[in-house]
Amino acid sequence: PFDVLVVGGGPAGAAAAIYAARKGIRTGLATERFGGQVLDTLAIENFISVQRTEGPKLVAQMESHVAEYGVDVMTLQRAEALFPARSPGGLHEVRLESGATLRARSVILSTGARWRSLGVPGEDTYRNRGVTYCPHCDGPLFKGKRVAVVGGGNSGVEAAIDLAGVVAHVTLLEFGDQLRADAVLQRKLRSLSNVTVLLNAQTTAIDGDGGKVDGLTYVDRAAGETRRVHVEGVFVQIGLVPNTDWLRGVLDLSPHGEIEVDAHGRTSVPGVFAAGDATTTPFKQIVIAMGEGSKASLSAFDHLIRMPAS
Ligand code: FAD
Repeated sequence: PFDVLVVGGGPAGAAAAIYAARKGIRTGLATERFGGQVLDTLAIENFISVQRTEGPKLVAQMESHVAEYGVDVMTLQRAEALFPARSPGGLHEVRLESGATLRARSVILSTGARWRSLGVPGEDTYRNRGVTYCPHCDGPLFKGKRVAVVGGGNSGVEAAIDLAGVVAHVTLLEFGDQLRADAVLQRKLRSLSNVTVLLNAQTTAIDGDGGKVDGLTYVDRAAGETRRVHVEGVFVQIGLVPNTDWLRGVLDLSPHGEIEVDAHGRTSVPGVFAAGDATTTPFKQIVIAMGEGSKASLSAFDHLIRMPAS
C-alpha cells in the first residue's frame, strides 16, 4: 500500500505528491490526466516569480519535478469510489474505473473543478481568444477594452466590479429578471459608471472575426428581440463545478459540492485530506492550489507519524 495516495494530478496534486515523496514515504498519484486545468490554459502571468508562461509548459515542468522523486504516477485513471479505513491506522481504498483498487494509509483528494460553459456557438471557437472564465487570470489582458460578463450571481457581479477597474467598459448579462448576487455587491456594481447591466438577456452566441472575439449576441427576453453588443472579451461566470460527485455521502461536501476542509486540509474523514479547486478553500488559482496541496501533504505526514506502525 501507499503511505500517501494523491487522487487528481493538477497543481494541487503535483505539489502534494512532491511534498510527500520528499519525506521518503511511498507516494502514489492517480489521475485522469496530468496537469489538470493548467493544460487548457494559454498565458499564465500570475505564477509568482515567473513573469509569463504557458499552461502546457508549466505542466511539463510540474511533471518533471514530480518525476524526480520516484512518485508512482498513474495517468488515465479515474477514481470512482473512496472507502475510508474502518479503524484508526487502517487502509483507505480508492476504486478506479478500470476496476483496480488502490490502498493507502492516507489519501489526498485533489480532483479539481471545471467551469460551467454556456454551450453557445463561438464559445469553443474563441476560447482563450477572447472567451475566458477567470477574471483574476485574464482581466489585465483586456486593459482599456470593452468586455461582457455573463452571469449575474456573486461570481459574475464580483467579476464585473473587478474588471470595471481595469477595462474600458463592462456589460453584465443576466438571464433572469434580477441579479442574484448579494445586495452589497449589487449596490457597488450600480455605483460604477462604466458598467451596463442587462437583465432578461439570454446569451445566444459569441461572435468573432475568425481570429478573436468581436461581439456577443443575446435575446432580450422581455422584448423578444435579438441584439448584439460589441466586446473584445467575454467572461463566462455561470458556476464552477467541483469534480466530487464520486465522494457524495462519503465525506462532508458544501452545498456547492466542494469538499469541506479545515485550515490543515483535513476532511471530515480522519486520514483523508483535500486541496485545490475541489475544496471549500476560497479563490481558485494555481499558486493557491499548489500551496494547499503542499499543506495537505504535510498534514498527511503529521497524521501518519501519529499512527500505530502497520
Ligand atoms: P485541476 O487543475 O482541476 O486538476 C484536477 C485533476 O484531477 C485533473 O487532472 C483531472 O483530470 C483529475 N481528476 C478529476 N476527477 C478525477 C477522478 N475522479 N479521478 C482521477 N482524477 C480526476 N489560475 C491561475 O492561477 N492563473 C491563470 O492564469 C489561470 N488561468 C486559467 C485558465 C483556464 C482556461 C482555466 C480553466 C483555469 C485557469 N486557472 C488559472 C485556474 C487554475 O487552473 C486552477 O485553479 C488550478 O488548476 C486548480 O488546480 P487543482 O489541482 O485543484 O485542480
